[in-house]
Amino acid sequence: MPQRQAQAHAALARALPSRALLSEPRALKPYESDGLTALREVPWLVALPETVAEVRAVLAICREHGIAVVPRGAGTGLSGGARPSADGLLLGLSRLNRILEIDLDNGVAVVEPGVRNLAISQAAAEHGLYYAPDPSSQIACSIGGNVAENAGGVHCLKYGLTVHNVVGLRVLTFAGDELVLGGRGSDDAGYDLLALMIGSEGLLGVVTEVIVKLLPSPPEKRVVLAAFADVSAAADAVGAIIAAGIIPAGLEMMDQRAVQAAEAFVHAGYPQGAAAILLCELDGVALEVDEALGRVRRVLVQHGAFTLRVAVDAADQARLWLGRKAAFPAVGRIAPDYYCMDGTIPRARLSEVLGAIAALEAEYGLAVANVFHAGDGNLHPLILYDANAPGEMARAEAMGERILEHCVAVGGTVSGEHGVGLEKLGPMCVQFSAAELAQMHRVKAAFDPDGRLNPGKAVPTLARCAEVGGMHVHGGRLPFPNLPRF
Ligand SMILES: Cc1cc2nc3c(=O)[nH]c(=O)nc-3n(C[C@H](O)[C@H](O)[C@H](O)COP(=O)(O)OP(=O)(O)OC[C@H]3O[C@@H](n4cnc5c(N)ncnc54)[C@H](O)[C@@H]3O)c2cc1C
Repeated sequence: MPQRQAQAHAALARALPSRALLSEPRALKPYESDGLTALREVPWLVALPETVAEVRAVLAICREHGIAVVPRGAGTGLSGGARPSADGLLLGLSRLNRILEIDLDNGVAVVEPGVRNLAISQAAAEHGLYYAPDPSSQIACSIGGNVAENAGGVHCLKYGLTVHNVVGLRVLTFAGDELVLGGRGSDDAGYDLLALMIGSEGLLGVVTEVIVKLLPSPPEKRVVLAAFADVSAAADAVGAIIAAGIIPAGLEMMDQRAVQAAEAFVHAGYPQGAAAILLCELDGVALEVDEALGRVRRVLVQHGAFTLRVAVDAADQARLWLGRKAAFPAVGRIAPDYYCMDGTIPRARLSEVLGAIAALEAEYGLAVANVFHAGDGNLHPLILYDANAPGEMARAEAMGERILEHCVAVGGTVSGEHGVGLEKLGPMCVQFSAAELAQMHRVKAAFDPDGRLNPGKAVPTLARCAEVGGMHVHGGRLPFPNLPRF
């Protein structure tokens, strides 16, 4: 072990209680990956601070000894953002898990970063309030991880992503400065560093406190399931609902493979003959919801829905949503491995891009299950493969990159809500120009000049983009213009 690591280890052991520092190989192993388990590296050390003062001490020691730090929430990320490095420290924030305050007058909750997403709504429920962004992983994922990834979920179509629902943050930079961004009041002066921090994937600072907006729970909810014999018809119905002036609380789509997997797993009552289903939730006051439901039904029928089922009560609604929420693990039961993609496209192009994905299935000889936030145009093709079959994993990765290229080509983006992490560094070269990526590196350098916080993630080096052969510059692939600076 190099001397600086030995010195840092000794200093960390002095600064933290012994339960907060893991160094035994068996204790380190569970931290070797996030939800993208194909990318693994056992960290040098894991620190699990329980107070902000301990987080600050860890950062100070790592700064002094030149050790890289990878922040981690619950480790449910799907792009390798919390994948440790072999000679770095993994900073687990899960023990900072206190709900500090429910401030009813200001309609906010003040929480530590390790609080689980669902725990916020559970704590607010007795006041008739909830926190709207609801990733399917909400039972496990942390609000700090949600901030870092700008997480989305079923209800983000109507209520916005994390960035629209977090009003304040406390952040520690790697240099040890505390930044207090936003707060309980309305707008802030100066550059919007709060928005910049949300979605920054742990590269700019460590989030130590989050103030989230709480919304009144809607008095009425209706959930309708529509089954289609044709995927394109279902996709076109999505845009038609929005075009009719209706913003559902959630509008999700599952194709036949996803429906069958979910049905076999949780028996949600989905029709088995359908090529695709839509799940549409409407919320608000009863009159408004009933009126919107009537209009949604008409649109769905006009687009060829052959079955419409409106959930009869709250338990029935929960059952319909259970199939959607359990779809990822359900697909995990029908293939040895799956690779979850996360591109976003303009809604109007859904049918075309789903067609392109079907063509890629044939080209690569790999099946796909589609289950996604259709209303947001946020696709989640799950590419099924077997990591033990020679070449299949590489084929799945190559196919995934082609899907993301399609997303960019139709005016979309390579990441909807899962972040770039390590996974999408290559596709970032397709979406962004050299000038745009260079500007992102300058932002990183302004917060972390030595590049020690979550290094190598989220923004590809220009050298890497040069190696992959070109950069996308607003509509065309051009040869890489200059020598790389980053
Ligand atoms: C079954 C399943 C379903 C999912 N569904 C959704 C979905 O519907 N919508 C969605 O958006 N995502 C979804 N995800 C992805 C994942 O749950 C989200 O990205 C989530 O926000 C990650 O939170 P986490 O606490 O697990 O973060 P981690 O995975 O631990 O970390 C994610 C990133 O955040 C950084 N980070 C974590 N905590 C902090 C902190 N305190 N300060 C600074 N940086 C930090 C890490 O360095 C890393 O870059 C799903 C994942 C799974 C496994």
